Amino acid sequence: MFASAISLLETARSATVLCHVQPDADTIGSGLAIGTVLARRGVEVQVAFASPSELPESMNELPGRDMLTAPEDVRSRVDLVVTVDAGSRGRLGALADRIDMADACLVIDHHRSNTRFGTLNVVDDGAESTTAVITRLLDAWNVAVDTDLAHCLFAGLVTDTGSFRWVRPGSHLLAERLLATGIDGAAIARKLLDNHPFGWLPMLGSVLGSAALVQDAVGGLGLVYAVILRENSEGMRSEEIESVIDIVRTTSEAEVAAVFKQQSGDEWTVSLRSKTAVDVSTVAATLGGGGHRNAAGFTAHGAKTDVIDLLVDALG
Ligand code: AMP
Ligand code: MN
Ligand code: MN
Repeated sequence: MFASAISLLETARSATVLCHVQPDADTIGSGLAIGTVLARRGVEVQVAFASPSELPESMNELPGRDMLTAPEDVRSRVDLVVTVDAGSRGRLGALADRIDMADACLVIDHHRSNTRFGTLNVVDDGAESTTAVITRLLDAWNVAVDTDLAHCLFAGLVTDTGSFRWVRPGSHLLAERLLATGIDGAAIARKLLDNHPFGWLPMLGSVLGSAALVQDAVGGLGLVYAVILRENSEGMRSEEIESVIDIVRTTSEAEVAAVFKQQSGDEWTVSLRSKTAVDVSTVAATLGGGGHRNAAGFTAHGAKTDVIDLLVDALG
């Protein structure tokens, strides 16, 4: 599975590593890890994401962030584009066109909904995180994982596994290997996951205070949702906004949880989570989005109640 990817990576002399829009620690950790390996081999490399303009603050200690390049400065022509943790071209935003200008595109991902948009696609939808796929790729490539690489790889692993709740045989061995390099796993996890300003608490108060439980949705399995209006998210970082779904989804009466995040007047991004019975990546795909079986998302336009109805209908 990795041999052709390694030969692409070994022959490139210039490369751009693209992370997905609204980046999380898995896409940035993956991008910086691949970028670091290429840079050490003497490849001219840039790492980028199309939006927003700033890296989320929680990720500002990840090694290699000096390689991050503003979208407008991303070279148009390179030997190789590598995309990390992006299930489709659309997830690359305005930087998707860089794929067409490169000689080759290597897609490295773990999304079930991946559309295989590269010239070579290394997609393992059973993998815990894209950084887990990359760790296995580096092993096959005989690249030693030092503390800087381990820090980036652990960042994606700890966040995408929900702090090691969604794991499989081998996941803890992978974590053990990365920790054994000497990285401070507790400090990395705290910085990425448990570090919110006080203002987050009143924001949660108002958002969770208006959460709703629709018991007869999802064929009777139940939907719980909360809405984050612009006025709620004002002054909040993506870290505060993206954490809300992790509280809402714990509701025991509902199989599916959703958080509607108002981006502008009528534009909404929606996070979906399911427990066991429902594949939310399929539901998200019917609404133009994608994701994993138990964690997915989509973007919708319309009035709040219309967007909620759209989801309730799609869930059946
Ligand atoms: P989120 O709720 O934003 O944490 O996203 C959960 C999962 O769904 C992640 O794996 C995302 O990559 C995926 N996802 C979220 N939004 C979209 C979208 N608009 N299109 C495709 N996939 C998405
Ligand atoms: Mn991601
Ligand atoms: Mn991921």
